[in-house]
Amino acid sequence: MDELLLQAEKLSAVGQLAAGVAHEIRNPLTSLKGFTQILHEKAEYPERQYFDIMMAELDRIDSILGEMLLLAKPQEVHFQPWDVVPIVQEVVALLLTQAVIKNISVQTDFPAALPFVDCDKSQLKQVFLNVIKNAMEAMPQGGTVRVSGQVSAGDVCIDVMDQGEGIPADRLPKLGEPFFTTKEKGTGLGLMVSHRILAAHRGTMRFTSEPGKGTTVRICLPASRTGSQHLA
Ligand code: ADP
Ligand code: MG
Repeated sequence: MDELLLQAEKLSAVGQLAAGVAHEIRNPLTSLKGFTQILHEKAEYPERQYFDIMMAELDRIDSILGEMLLLAKPQEVHFQPWDVVPIVQEVVALLLTQAVIKNISVQTDFPAALPFVDCDKSQLKQVFLNVIKNAMEAMPQGGTVRVSGQVSAGDVCIDVMDQGEGIPADRLPKLGEPFFTTKEKGTGLGLMVSHRILAAHRGTMRFTSEPGKGTTVRICLPASRTGSQHLA
């Protein structure tokens, strides 16, 4: 646990800096957005279209800052033994409305009991949110996302499987690089944040993908030695 906390603090030093900068940029950005909106309402063709683009780009900056702000603050990192299943289920519930709109069904399959993991609950939620959102975004025509859990070599592993476009092999090493995105409205920060959080948990994230068929993301976390095994 001590070492885990130490790692979390290192993560937080970077996170604090990023969050500080993001916060400072957000204030002037809010006024830029406000005045652009006013000008947009008054403008006519073709200027109106320029303001459309400006607002879309300002929104993009805003979402990049939003993800940077998610990089941890030190006092908020608390490792405790938790059951990951309800954490994942909360995230799935959160995304359900969005899934229905996009014609996506999210199926979950968990064993009756999984060992607990030492984790910061809200940070892990962030990881699952990023990964399940990516799975949904990979299927613009709709489809099924399968989320399952199992024990593998003493780790608790969660698989998120989609039927999306897949990832070409030469792109795999780029995943998690800051700002690497293939999406028009992407930030390319979701996986970087997820990697950092998992590293602080001694966890791993692996991608298996077949272009045109889909992608499986496997997230593994060491089972807690102090927490309840929660065995049925
Ligand atoms: P963003 O979602 O903002 O693009 P991420 O860091 O979450 O940023 O993801 C980076 C990139 O990794 C994505 O733009 C996409 O190319 C690729 N990716 C991640 N998950 C998947 C997936 N399930 N299927 C296909 N590509 C994916
Ligand atoms: Mg993403």
